[in-house]
Amino acid sequence: MLIAEKENVTMETFESLESDVRSYSRSFPTVFERSKGYKLWDTDGKEYIDFFAGAGTLNYGHNNDKMKQLLIDYIANDSITHSLDMATVARGKFLEKFNEIILEPRNLDYKVMFPGPTGTNSVESALKLARKATGRTTIMSFTNAFHGMTIGALSITGNEKIRKGAGVPLHHSVSMPFDKFVTTEESLSFIESYLTKGGTGVELPAAIILETVQGEGGINAASIEWLQGIEKIANKLGILLIVDDIQAGCGRTGTFFSFEPAGIEPDIVCLSKSLSGYGLPMSITLLKEELDVFTPGEHNGTFRGNNLAFIAATEALEYWTNDLFAEDIQDKSEFLKQFIIETIEKYPELKAKARGRGLMQGVACGVDGLAGEICEKAFEKGLLMETSGPKGEVFKFLPPLMIDKAGLQAGFDIIEESIEEVIEKL
Ligand code: PLP
Repeated sequence: MLIAEKENVTMETFESLESDVRSYSRSFPTVFERSKGYKLWDTDGKEYIDFFAGAGTLNYGHNNDKMKQLLIDYIANDSITHSLDMATVARGKFLEKFNEIILEPRNLDYKVMFPGPTGTNSVESALKLARKATGRTTIMSFTNAFHGMTIGALSITGNEKIRKGAGVPLHHSVSMPFDKFVTTEESLSFIESYLTKGGTGVELPAAIILETVQGEGGINAASIEWLQGIEKIANKLGILLIVDDIQAGCGRTGTFFSFEPAGIEPDIVCLSKSLSGYGLPMSITLLKEELDVFTPGEHNGTFRGNNLAFIAATEALEYWTNDLFAEDIQDKSEFLKQFIIETIEKYPELKAKARGRGLMQGVACGVDGLAGEICEKAFEKGLLMETSGPKGEVFKFLPPLMIDKAGLQAGFDIIEESIEEVIEKL
């Protein structure tokens, strides 16, 4: 059966039948068939190391054994698969365990909303909620932000090309300089002045939405000081703070929520991607009790009851019952940082700078097109890695968090070989 499938499915299938909008099948032009842990294999049996992790969706690796068995058992028992937002055992267990393992130990008193299966569903729900709760319309977002592809999410996105895709003017938002776009002090004082001095034409926003590390916009990591400064401004002026933790959350930067080291407490948090643990679509929006202002069904959606995702997500929470997983991420983050520092020193031709935090780091190349060429070369040599940033100037490290140091080193070796071949042609 698999052999027949292998013979039938080639890249030609996608080129002739699928819309031109497809993108990752262009970056990684092969037909994938199997995956395990931090590796994938294509139909020719070629092995790839994964430094992409489904754009941050496979933090716990591909086809995690424990989750897989639970899913098999759940299906074999004819348990509920689809249920909108009806009460099911799987949904209830997820809610209880999320509260017990994640929220209570962090003294976070959030209500959980299921806004729909994707990250952008969570973002849209957060924007709607902030507007309803405050009665105001403007949302403040940041340079190089990315929050998804629906109209509301596009209105708070920095990337011009992506914004243009909306096909309509994008309103009710205002973009401000993120940390590192200018200095931390400049960004904070600029924002505060715009909101308080008058004469700027900027209305008091309903909310400020931010990523602590900008995943698509160039792996720009906000400093602790900046995050605290933004929270202070928001609190002082009665603006809600939304953290979009869709890519940076679920352990990616070393703690379950990426904002934990800053000690801030957002009013609303968006989570998705690795939340389900197994790559199954699932997202949640966390909100402070006083923001629970939607009437029943005011925000809804058919696919808010992906019980298979709840089963895997509940198991994924086991990683957070003690500090071992977080410590291991920290250790590997240092290993990665060291490689990045050494690489930048060893290859001055890259004119590069280090970016990011945790297992969400990148190398920003100062030569146009170089990062993309390095990723292409790395793919030929068996490594999945993508670019980030407005000009695709960053090559981005986003391995599954469960990868071991041998796996990281194998990927680093491919990157070095790729860099050498690419700079030889400069
Ligand atoms: N927010 C952030 C920070 C993201 O990185 C993404 C996707 O990459 C989204 C929102 C949108 O998530 P989705 O693609 O599931 O709609």
